[in-house]
Amino acid sequence: MENEAFDNLDMKPEDFRKLGYRVIDMITEYYTSIQEIPVFPPVTTSEVEEVFKEDFPEAGQDPFNIVKEWKTKILPYATHLGSPRYFGFVNGSGTMIGTLAEAMAAAVNMNSGGWKAAPSATEIERRTIAWIAELVGFPLDCGGLFTSGGTMANFTALETALRNIAPYDITNKGLQDKQIPGKFRVYMSDHEGHISITRVVDLLNMGRESVHLVKSRDDFSMDTADLLKCIDQDISNGDYPLCVVGQVGSINVGVIDPLEEIAAICKERNIWFHADGACGAVGMLIPEKREQYQGLELADSITLDPHKWLYIPYDCGCVLVRDAEKMRRAFSLQAPYLRGTLPTEYSGLYYLDYGPEMSRSFRALKVWMSIKHYGREGYRKLLSQNVNCVEYLDTLVRKDEDFQALHKPNLLMYCMQYAPLILKEKYKLNPEQLDSRLDLLNQQIVDKIQISGTAFIMSSKIRGRIVIRLSVCSHRTTKEDILLVFLKLKEIGEGLSSRNIMEEY
Ligand SMILES: *Cc1c(COP(=O)(O)O)cnc(C)c1O
Repeated sequence: MENEAFDNLDMKPEDFRKLGYRVIDMITEYYTSIQEIPVFPPVTTSEVEEVFKEDFPEAGQDPFNIVKEWKTKILPYATHLGSPRYFGFVNGSGTMIGTLAEAMAAAVNMNSGGWKAAPSATEIERRTIAWIAELVGFPLDCGGLFTSGGTMANFTALETALRNIAPYDITNKGLQDKQIPGKFRVYMSDHEGHISITRVVDLLNMGRESVHLVKSRDDFSMDTADLLKCIDQDISNGDYPLCVVGQVGSINVGVIDPLEEIAAICKERNIWFHADGACGAVGMLIPEKREQYQGLELADSITLDPHKWLYIPYDCGCVLVRDAEKMRRAFSLQAPYLRGTLPTEYSGLYYLDYGPEMSRSFRALKVWMSIKHYGREGYRKLLSQNVNCVEYLDTLVRKDEDFQALHKPNLLMYCMQYAPLILKEKYKLNPEQLDSRLDLLNQQIVDKIQISGTAFIMSSKIRGRIVIRLSVCSHRTTKEDILLVFLKLKEIGEGLSSRNIMEEY
């Protein structure tokens, strides 16, 4: 062996401190500018590719130069979810203390898969999960853990359902047991059911077709009479109803399914009741909304995304399962290298026994710290402010004859359509032409406002029509932001519809 001097390549404490202060200064400056910064950089894929074209470095570089690239390369090509005018997908804005928590979690670098590798991290997760359980009215000793997001939370819940409800030993035999001819079926509403459920049944190899879409009522919530019909139909086909997924704050209109009715049906028929509250469950904190959540406490499992409406920095989803033992039964496995010790008082909960991940980051820290920072009171205020913004937007829309309101505002989601009178009156379009013209127009408005940098807004579909959709999920959004964005949408819409639109046909 060559006699090379040992070097662990760590920085000297003084250098680390200086570098850390530099980074904190940069982040603080960023937070100071977040109100003004264009929300989305109008850049092409190839432009971004060009910026990062660089070979694997042979020699190490000066860390001061590396972190500087945050300002020169990363921020200019970033989408700013922390902006008060970011309304895309359902993306939270990121708490400041969560930013620091991420650094601290990385510093201590515990692996929250196993107790021995993470005693305090495990206990913080357990405690925070109990807080969240209390928030949504679940038993405090329920099972639950943090995941990468709502999809993995839904996966964990449905896998638990499958393992506990299936009439044979899926854990060891898999889904391919010849004794069982029928298919497992999962129910969700046809309009507002979330596509992540399709992803989950896909991952579970139940087949995408196993999702049975249930009709919605006029207010977009699940029609439980149709749910019963669907269940009966499947049973008479020899299929096996596994789980009903209720929406708790749906993806387009923020509606909450009739949870109590679903719970009663599930209980009677021995079907798992999963409540997908990825974006909306925490709305339960708002006193005026509380009543809508009746029945959530009856679910077998609940998904709730702290990286959405608790504003926790990415990533962080969360699943709660009423009966922790059912989770353990679904996920626990043994290997000599996982425990490596006798069961003593120096060991506790192994989260790797309760979910799909083995190695797990210390996600709980940013949630724990954010909840401690804001308290129930702070969160109640932030959530109410978002709801007020949505209601304000609805008022603006209803007052303006060129806009069309599409649903009753609820929680953080809002959809609307720009439908200017000029199109209807001046151009004498028949209903079909009008619809397709409005679809195009609304898509163009959304594309245009994104590029403008004023706000990040996306389109979606309501009853087949393209609409402008906002998720008001930033703790920084004010009514002034809403007004500014509404006026900008109108300005863009007017610009687009005053052009000679018939040319496009
Ligand atoms: C966002 C969302 C999901 C998926 O969550 P991810 O964190 O994106 O994986 C699932 N269900 C609903 C209702 C959602 O809003």
